[in-house]
Amino acid sequence: MQLNLSSHLLRAGSYINGDWHSSDKTFAVRNPADGSELHQVADAGAEQASAAIAAASKAFSSWSLLPAAKRAELLYNWYLLLVKYQTDLAIILTAEQGKPLAEAKGEINYGGSYLQWFSEQAKRLDGDTIPAPSADKRIIIQRQAVGVVAAITPWNFPNAMLMRKAAAALAAGCTFVVKPAQQTPLSALAMAVLAEQAGIPKGVFNVVVGTNAKAIGEVLTTDRRVAKFSFTGSTAVGKTLAAQCAADVKRVTMELGGNAPFIVFDDADLEAAVTGLLASKFRNAGQTCVCANRILIQKSVYPAFTKKLIAAVNKLKVGSGLSQDSDIGPLISTEALEKVEKLVSSALKQGAKVELGAQRHAAGKQFYAPTILSQVTADMDISQQEIFGPVAALQTFTDEAEAIKLANDTEYGLAAYFYSRDIGRVFRVAQALQFGMVGINEGAISNAAAPFGGVKHSGYGREGSKYGLDDYTDIKYLCLGGL
Ligand code: ADP
Repeated sequence: MQLNLSSHLLRAGSYINGDWHSSDKTFAVRNPADGSELHQVADAGAEQASAAIAAASKAFSSWSLLPAAKRAELLYNWYLLLVKYQTDLAIILTAEQGKPLAEAKGEINYGGSYLQWFSEQAKRLDGDTIPAPSADKRIIIQRQAVGVVAAITPWNFPNAMLMRKAAAALAAGCTFVVKPAQQTPLSALAMAVLAEQAGIPKGVFNVVVGTNAKAIGEVLTTDRRVAKFSFTGSTAVGKTLAAQCAADVKRVTMELGGNAPFIVFDDADLEAAVTGLLASKFRNAGQTCVCANRILIQKSVYPAFTKKLIAAVNKLKVGSGLSQDSDIGPLISTEALEKVEKLVSSALKQGAKVELGAQRHAAGKQFYAPTILSQVTADMDISQQEIFGPVAALQTFTDEAEAIKLANDTEYGLAAYFYSRDIGRVFRVAQALQFGMVGINEGAISNAAAPFGGVKHSGYGREGSKYGLDDYTDIKYLCLGGL
């Protein structure tokens, strides 16, 4: 598979108010599999971010007043175009991000599922009536779009993280400005092409691509015309951006880092647990915020589980995402690779043992071999930080209470997973885990019908599901008197 450079979906600059921005100042988007240059893209900055907000602000009055059914129709048109161009979008995504093409196709489907879901939810922005304390009054509740939404999205899911926010915002009647990660702007720009083709009016969906994240971020979080800010990325950057938003009391959604525990109890179906762990740990080469980070295995099943896991991980094929049979692509950058190497070497110094891998892979400069470490302990850096690489770090525990204590011993609270067939234990452990999402006998939990989001330092707000419009609407109370 090759990137088709003449595809109408490949664009070279920001999409603002229905126009394509060009500039002499450009930056290269590169293929992480081999470092080759894919495209030069115009480097937008604070000025273009401000222009995009102006466009979104102008478009808001007409977009928010469109009948919900019309907004729904336009979102559905956008969805149908995404489906039509699924393969082209997936090739662009793999070329700039690195994940295997089959995973990229899955991500496009997943991103599209939010468009489909919110095209339906757009029609269900129901209000409420509440019995009033006196006979001459009526209490009426309406939900209204908050206004202009600004967003910053990461490189690990360049399509889905964007569509999860944009679909909900537009469905609610908000207009939207996004700054995608500079490593993966092409996927976002391709969705702008399809938004235009779908008939989304100019100014409603804007994409600002640039390398000066700090400057663009400052505009998006401090401009008075932005009512709400939505971020997916690291906890460190999220804290800064949330603080910037606080000065203007903006509504904020934060989808931040995770440090997911993956617990295998002695009554688990071990085959299923291995399959779940492969999905949760090795998808996207371990670069997702819901990736299993700390694998906790009950001592009595540890030898059997580890043997099965080593056999399964040994079969994973490493290579360019664009070649058909790859399971694991490159990491996003050499810095990312070096961070993984550092975590592994410090774990080894502290007493962890190599079961598999623990080295770079010959497929290319940014490839890391699928790795399994045993004898990992809770105090190691590898247990306390997000690994964001294809490294399974195995710890053991003795009983349920210890598993829960270890699992909750983190500042993060995004996803957790556990495997058990004991119904009592299933309910006890599910209740005790301090995480926003819990996979029980399941390693792949994300879908448009379910609320995605975390607690503690993993952030606040929920994306997707019937709750997903709440973050983009204000409740307005009308008091009708004199009746
Ligand atoms: P990751 O570790 O996944 O790259 P980051 O939080 O660094 O996570 O990046 C997520 C998004 O935040 C990207 O779009 C990136 O460009 C953006 N970003 C990074 N630093 C800043 C900043 N200081 N201000 C605004 N946006 C930023």
